[in-house]
Amino acid sequence: MSMDITFLGTGSAYPSPTRGASATVIRNEGECWLFDCGEGTQTQFMKSHLKAGRITKIFITHLHGDHFFGLPGLLCTVSLQSSSCPSKQHVDIYGPVGLRDFIWRTMELSHSELLFSYVVHELVPTPDQCPPEEFKELTRLNGDGGSSKEVQGRTIYLDPVENCYTLVNDEQLVMKAFRLFHRIPSFGFLVEEKQRTGKLNVQKLKDLGVQPGPVYGKLKNGITVVLESGITISPSDVLEDPIPGRKICILGDCSGVVGDEAVKLCFEADLLVHEATLDDSQVDKAIEHGHSTPRMAAEFAKLCKVKNLVLTHFSQRYKPAALVGEGDTDVTELKRQAEAVLAGQEVTLAEDFMTIDIPMKKQK
Ligand SMILES: [Zn+2]
Ligand SMILES: [Zn+2]
Repeated sequence: MSMDITFLGTGSAYPSPTRGASATVIRNEGECWLFDCGEGTQTQFMKSHLKAGRITKIFITHLHGDHFFGLPGLLCTVSLQSSSCPSKQHVDIYGPVGLRDFIWRTMELSHSELLFSYVVHELVPTPDQCPPEEFKELTRLNGDGGSSKEVQGRTIYLDPVENCYTLVNDEQLVMKAFRLFHRIPSFGFLVEEKQRTGKLNVQKLKDLGVQPGPVYGKLKNGITVVLESGITISPSDVLEDPIPGRKICILGDCSGVVGDEAVKLCFEADLLVHEATLDDSQVDKAIEHGHSTPRMAAEFAKLCKVKNLVLTHFSQRYKPAALVGEGDTDVTELKRQAEAVLAGQEVTLAEDFMTIDIPMKKQK
């Protein structure tokens, strides 16, 4: 039930000794889900408490190099390490159209044979996600078929009704992608747990004369039971209120969202990760390059009523607060700018290797 998020790379454009290129990990029940994989992500993993071998899902927000140039190297190293671990799980990779070909081509050209299977699910962007002159219609290029370890993935189009892309929808989780506006099409990702059944009220059951046993399991699974005494107990009589699921949203580079779905999906998120490449005094430059400032990020967070806003993807000029020297730009100014919009609600500035726990929610 434990869930946390670790920032492995919080810098924009390129990795530096103080800020790695984009990479964020959600750890859930021992699995790692990686969001973006900038150059050097594998060494950031090694420096952290996380294990790259635990990655089961990878999400790429967009195809700018600082968000995915680390992918072939990371996959090859995980493969090397998995030779002593034959149970290495299959990896699902989600990202914009073109990603499957990139991975296939780099594996082919370098004669790399992965020891685990992977599948690339491609998201098809819409032309309004970037300036018209930047939009490229990419088709699948690898006519020779995938590599031996590649399992055919899905091509996922925007759902015209929901206005988003459904990636995962199982008993426990929903994962969706939504559209962002950037220099090239970019996506945000939603990770949401489904609500859990409430606890059994054991005292109430004892009062009804029901002893622990199979009946408890039936009630917990929503099945009405009739006791030998003829008394009927329905689950709602003895189950406490359901426990709401946690919601985390991680946005790729953007100067805004496309359509109104992003606000709905991020509404009341427990944690929202938003880029803030430049400070508010450089808003024109930020927008020109398809980026956000702290004010822009905080305004989106406010609209969505999120509980915690974390800013990341800082220009390399903003050194982490502990490393700011004389003449350096003060990164904490970005925190103040965001907090001013959120009426003092605390905003977190991500730093490499920072981990934030996402505690289980209480019953409503
Ligand atoms: Zn970037
Ligand atoms: Zn970008």
